[in-house]
Amino acid sequence: MSRVLVVEDEPAIRRFLRLALAGDGAEVAEAGSVAFGLAEAAARPPDLVVLDLGLPDADGAEFIRACRAWSDLPILVLSARSQEADKVAALEAGADDYLAKPFGVAELLARVHALLRRRQPRDGSCEPLIRFGAVALDLARRSVSRAGAAVRLTPTEYHLLVYLATHPDRVLTQRQVLQAVWGPGHGEDSHYLRIYVGRLRHKLEADPARPRHLLTETGVGYRFVP
Ligand code: CA
Repeated sequence: MSRVLVVEDEPAIRRFLRLALAGDGAEVAEAGSVAFGLAEAAARPPDLVVLDLGLPDADGAEFIRACRAWSDLPILVLSARSQEADKVAALEAGADDYLAKPFGVAELLARVHALLRRRQPRDGSCEPLIRFGAVALDLARRSVSRAGAAVRLTPTEYHLLVYLATHPDRVLTQRQVLQAVWGPGHGEDSHYLRIYVGRLRHKLEADPARPRHLLTETGVGYRFVP
């Protein structure tokens, strides 16, 4: 059974989360503030945290920064549509994914399951082959093929693909991707990123206009779905 800590101050949303998660078989702990959330997470570490960003005593991003000092447990952030900048800040502070309010049970559970799956140590976690769609990415040989045919990527395209593919099912902000692939100092060059993601889609997606693996998170960044 998974243990989920819900940090949310609005009673109605907290109740909705508790019912949805408990109905899915999780053991649910609750906190209504950053301070109580951190105390609870430290006392009985959960498998996952569902975190509201607007909390009465501090910003949710403070919870994330404090938590990341001692733990890599998955954090799913809840944000209102008006909190676009807060959402990006939360992801950069170390959150793994976000849900925009209002959201439904199915969407919530899909995100929760994806984060919990990632948490489980996979057999052969040093397996150097990543497959998605018709694509095989061989990290040991540094080669990419699609439906068995070799695909030629430039070094930058290859590094971008490796970064995305090794962070599956999570939202990566533009800044995170740019700094990882292009290096510090390139955090603002989001036009590079659009161009290179477009090239990867043309080379790897069955329908580049409707990508199924290299997804855009509007206003935030990208998400790789295997
Ligand atoms: Ca709130």
